[in-house]
Order: sequence, then C-alpha cells, then structure tokens
Amino acid sequence: MRLKGKVALITGGGAGIGRETALLFAKEGASVSVVDVASDAATGVAEEIQAAGGKAIAVRADVSRAGDCESMVAETEESLGALHVLFNNAGIMHGDDADAVDTEESVWDLTLAINLKGVFFGCKYGIPALRRSGGGSVINTASFVALMGAATPQLAYTASKGGVLALTRELAVVHAREGIRVNALCPGPLRTKLLMDFLDTEEKKQRRLVHVPMGRFGEAHEMAQAALYLASDESSYVTGTEFAVDGGLTAAYVTPE
Ligand code: NAD
Repeated sequence: MRLKGKVALITGGGAGIGRETALLFAKEGASVSVVDVASDAATGVAEEIQAAGGKAIAVRADVSRAGDCESMVAETEESLGALHVLFNNAGIMHGDDADAVDTEESVWDLTLAINLKGVFFGCKYGIPALRRSGGGSVINTASFVALMGAATPQLAYTASKGGVLALTRELAVVHAREGIRVNALCPGPLRTKLLMDFLDTEEKKQRRLVHVPMGRFGEAHEMAQAALYLASDESSYVTGTEFAVDGGLTAAYVTPE
C-alpha cells in the first residue's frame, strides 16, 4: 500500500476529483479527512470508505472562510492523529464567468475567494500541522488554464488558477528544507460536473475537445492516480512542479484530425 500510515485531508472531497482521490487514498492505506462545503456529499464519501474497511471522517468546511479551514485541520488532527498530505482541491467554475467586459465583480470575487484564497487558507492552517507530523506533501489543484489561455472565456477562473500556480512555486521553495513538498496538479478538461455544467451544449464541448490531442475529456480517477504519486513517498524529490495531466493539451499546437 502506497500511503500506509498516512493521514490525508482532501478539500472538495465530496465529488469529482476529490471524491475519486479520497477513495483511492483510502484503498492505499491512508486515513482520509473528506472535507466539503456540501456536508452530505462529504459524509457519503466517508461512509463509502468506512464500508470498504477504510478509515475516514467527514468535515464540513467552506474553504473561503479562514475559521472553517482552521477547524478542518484541527478536527483532522484530533480525529485521525496527524496530517501528512494536504490536497487543496476544492474549486468552482461560475456559470457567469466570461471575459473582462462581461464578468461581474461579484463573480470575480467569489471565484478568487474559493479557488485562490481557499488554497492560501488551506496552507496557512495545514502547513503548521505538516510541521507537527515531521513533514509531508501539499498538492494544490490548478488547471491547464494556468499555463495557457482558454478559447472559451472564463477570466476569473483562469486568473485564480494562475495564482494557485505562483503560490505553489513559492511555497515549495520556502518549505523545501522542512520536508514539506508542494506541487500543483494541472488537470486538462475533465468529464466532471464542474466542467460539464459550464460547457452546457454539445457544441461547447466539441469546441474544447478540438484542443485535446487524445480527443476525449479526462476522468476524475485519472487525476486521483496523479495525486497519489504526488502524495506518496515515490515523489520524494518532486517539489514546485506544475504536473500537467491533460491528454497532451499543453503540448499541442495543432491537434491530429
Ligand atoms: P466538482 O464540481 O466535481 O467537485 C468540486 C467539489 O468542491 C464539490 O464537492 C463542491 O461541493 C466542493 N466545493 C465547492 N466550493 C467549495 C468550498 N467553498 N469549500 C469546500 N468545498 C467546496 O469539480 P472537479 O472537477 O472535481 O474539480 C476539482 C478541482 O479541479 C477544482 O479546483 C477545479 O477547478 C479543478 N479542475 C477541474 C477541471 C475540470 O475540467 N473538471 C479542470 C482543471 C481543474
């Protein structure tokens, strides 16, 4: 088992990438703190893990709130004994996120508060817990749009993910000598609720797929496999990376017919 004896906290653990990662980490021997603003979803995933013989707790937290992030870390340490892996994964893509002209300030503020400030708060309260356990791995979910401009405008989202990448690099450098590794996971377009709700017509989906050499959306479980590598000691010399798992999207100039 690749995560035996480790405790992992996963935000946005109730659905999509977070859910698949929680289930996989538990299968690999980790105790998992499943954190989500949707408490029923978090509870459902924790119960699924317990039913399969694993160890998990469900914690309700809104990652845009400092107090919630402080208590999600405290509850995890109290119930599971430590923290070794912090997966700052919760994020939103607002349906009214558009270009600079059409994006409302409220959409910008909400997106930045969850997607970027949420990662900051996760680290603010999570890194002291990683220090207490002797080190560990932080994984921040960014996106391929942190590396390239998207053809379908989503300016607040793109800016938030660029911030996640910059923050990740600096944290990796600052904490490298404390045994705390910090990496960004940059998924390509995935067939999860978040993106399928945003690309709400077949035409929009096909528009996005034009850019993916593999010609398909990725699956949440494929991101979980990448997160597993970054969480485990197999990636012991890996820090500060932008780990693209994107079907070749960021490598492409023109995709095959
Ligand atoms: P999802 O919508 O399937 O799941 C996201 C989960 O986060 C949900 O359970 C939701 O309740 C939770 N959440 C939302 N706001 C929260 C908050 N304020 N506090 C705590 N939890 C909150 O989405 P997903 O596709 O699994 O996305 C996970 C991460 O991956 C996000 O950061 C997203 O931006 C990123 N990402 C997704 C794609 C994609 O194509 N789906 C691509 C690149 C990056």
